[in-house]
Amino acid sequence: MTEKELKRSKDFIREIIDADLNSKKNDARVHTRFPPEPNGYLHIGHAKSICLNFGIAKEYNGFCNLRFDDTNPCKEETEYVESIKEDVRWLGFDWQQREFYASDYFEKLYEYALELINKGKAYVCGLNAQQIREFRGTLTEPGKNSPFRERSVKENLDLFKRMRKGEFEDGACVLRAKIDMNSPNLNMRDPVLYRIMRANHHRTQNKWCIYPMYDFAHGFCDSIERITHSICTLEFENHRPLYDWFLNEAAIFHPQQIEFARLNLTYTVLSKRKLLALVEKKHVSGWDDPRMPTLSGLRRRGYTPQAIRKFCEHIGVAKFNSIIDIAVLENSLREELNKKALRAMAVLKPLKVVIDNYPQDKFEELDAVNNPEDPSMGVHKVPFSGIIYIEKDDFREDPPKKFYRLSPGMEVRLRYAYFITCTHAVKDDNGEVIEVHCRYDPATRGGDAPDGRKVKATIHWVSAQHAFDSQVRLYEYLFIKENPDEVEKEGDDFTVNLNPDSLQILNSCKLEPGLKLAKSGDIFQFERLGYFCVDSKDSSAGRPVFNRTVSLRDSWAKIEKKEKSEKQ
Ligand code: ATP
Ligand code: MG
Repeated sequence: MTEKELKRSKDFIREIIDADLNSKKNDARVHTRFPPEPNGYLHIGHAKSICLNFGIAKEYNGFCNLRFDDTNPCKEETEYVESIKEDVRWLGFDWQQREFYASDYFEKLYEYALELINKGKAYVCGLNAQQIREFRGTLTEPGKNSPFRERSVKENLDLFKRMRKGEFEDGACVLRAKIDMNSPNLNMRDPVLYRIMRANHHRTQNKWCIYPMYDFAHGFCDSIERITHSICTLEFENHRPLYDWFLNEAAIFHPQQIEFARLNLTYTVLSKRKLLALVEKKHVSGWDDPRMPTLSGLRRRGYTPQAIRKFCEHIGVAKFNSIIDIAVLENSLREELNKKALRAMAVLKPLKVVIDNYPQDKFEELDAVNNPEDPSMGVHKVPFSGIIYIEKDDFREDPPKKFYRLSPGMEVRLRYAYFITCTHAVKDDNGEVIEVHCRYDPATRGGDAPDGRKVKATIHWVSAQHAFDSQVRLYEYLFIKENPDEVEKEGDDFTVNLNPDSLQILNSCKLEPGLKLAKSGDIFQFERLGYFCVDSKDSSAGRPVFNRTVSLRDSWAKIEKKEKSEKQ
């Protein structure tokens, strides 16, 4: 297959939709939904589902609803609803006026429940949660019928109505479907449809004290909204017979549930429960901590909606679970930023360099390329003077083999400026180098020698007198293990695998003066260091704080590591 053909080859969900359109199923309509539960912030896994559902709607000239699955008031909050809407919009999708809530349908769902009772297909059960679990049996043992299973329709109607009226305590009884306690599928063993729960609901407040279970509510919501393809993740495959059972019993419009593999990423947890634990236990600064895989965290980190959409398109959808290397996500971002980001110079761990033969009090403005990938982006001026800062790591007094950067006697190129040769280093009482002295070659202005002599390294720098101080934060993966859930000791949880070095705050970085005007969300490539964005929370006008979005592919760390291993 050529690349073009490969691109055109469709995933299995789009194939199903094509076949449905061909056979004029659902009057050849395509209508999907994205159904988040408002119990946390959206993460990159949700982005996969959003891109899929909204993407399909767009491709097939259909619609995609945003539906909040708000059936569990204990865990749900308006804050989450608002953040979800913001994140879906930010990703670039529009639900127009189709914003729905499962709670919009509570009355209708209640009627469906009454209908099931009337058909003898549901009953009020007085077993407690523990007993229900015991009666359910296991994968190898059949379940046992509840002693309440044979209640009359009349009695069930009366009890269920009284459940709604609040005549019973929380947990005193539940409404269950009457299906088959011997079904090989545990989900079909008389699942719970309604429970009593006195909790303030973020939309219906105290109107209800009974709430439908997800499995019961979901299919009905899909049907009410006339969803054609109800796309969900694989763990719901075993729930599909139940989804179908409800809709068949009610004999109403029947959407098709289709399951796909959820996104898993290395070094990342993608479960709202675990992400909430990180926030609550203050392992991170909040849902939008730049280390979090939430969309708000990724946004603050400098990820763009384009890069995330591209990533989702790239990984595609499949029917089997797999784990994607987080480098794939980072690469889709690098690819985009490489084309878009302005280049600038910043020195994160500064070392002072005095150029002894550069005239005192002189300074000049040199041209720095804005983006070598795109000459149309032009150049900008950077000031140069006789005292500059370079990275500490770019100097070694006693260089190991293959260290081509600055060391006594060695000549290097200062990016966009001159060749300099190191003469000597000055140390403090502890023997630490605090200043390096060099001489420059005025003939090499712009960075090339007229006599054709070469240097082996080009390093970045900023003019000491012109640079400004700023905070820069470097981020590493939040976990030290590819699979954070892998723990050695029983009783440990994923938090034992947190990376203690996932955040490094550098407080006296020296940045080229033009960066002072950078605004919240702006992204730059700091030459040789990576991509950095202006933090949207902690920056103010003229005082930008930078987050490292992602390192460059051949990052310094890797070179260092290689050097270290070569040394050994
Ligand atoms: P979590 O497991 O993170 O708590 P969830 O499935 O409970 O997520 P929902 O709010 O119910 O969260 O998810 C909304 C939609 O997003 C669902 O259709 C769900 O299948 C999908 N989704 C959630 N996580 C992922 C993921 N990792 N990959 C792909 N889709 C996902
Ligand atoms: Mg869920």
